[in-house]
Amino acid sequence: MSAANVLVVEDEDSIREMLVMVLEQADFAVKAAADVPQAVTLLDGDGPDMILLDWMLPGMSGVEWARRLKKEKRYSGVPIILLTARGEEEDKVKGLDFGCDDYVTKPFSPRELVARIKAVLRRSAHSTQSGKIAVGGIVLDTDEHRVSIGDKRLALSPTEYRLLEFFITHRNKVYSRNQLLDQVWGRSTYIEERTVDVHIRRLRKILGEYGTEELIQTVRGFGYRFSEQQ
Ligand code: CA
Repeated sequence: MSAANVLVVEDEDSIREMLVMVLEQADFAVKAAADVPQAVTLLDGDGPDMILLDWMLPGMSGVEWARRLKKEKRYSGVPIILLTARGEEEDKVKGLDFGCDDYVTKPFSPRELVARIKAVLRRSAHSTQSGKIAVGGIVLDTDEHRVSIGDKRLALSPTEYRLLEFFITHRNKVYSRNQLLDQVWGRSTYIEERTVDVHIRRLRKILGEYGTEELIQTVRGFGYRFSEQQ
């Protein structure tokens, strides 16, 4: 297997150099940019396998660029981890709402960062069942990693796709946040249970545009269930 390509966008020279070193030591193929315009010049073909994106950049912010990339069909599937110096929960949630797959708060340990990158890459690469599955008007294409309702293709981040795929292939059973973290995010001690709620909320919002949000049901005190029965 060839090395995964990671694009690092960070304006602080010392942090960018440290990130490049850490990622190269972990056998990733790394490209680095100091701002969004420079990063854009490094997007060739279908883009990198993953983008590690600083929140605070001169000019266009990391979050704004993430929001734009997620709207471009060509790059919408590229997972993004946001680097943030801010501790506020609201900012993290905002990043996830814009389709970022995870966030890492500075200062971070290189080991934790590499573990998070690997988890995100694993999630975006792998699939449990092959072919097309149709449930409640939703058609999941596990080969193409696409979800559609009628003739509309849903714009899902890799994490949202994995979550919906898990639900569709594990219907009518209640899963706790912890179980969902294990199954969808992969076993990692670094992700908070609240992350599940954020992604569920986003998924419901997307499904809600087609009137199918009630397929994802909250089971109070336990977790979530995907079911056509109320
Ligand atoms: Ca910065």
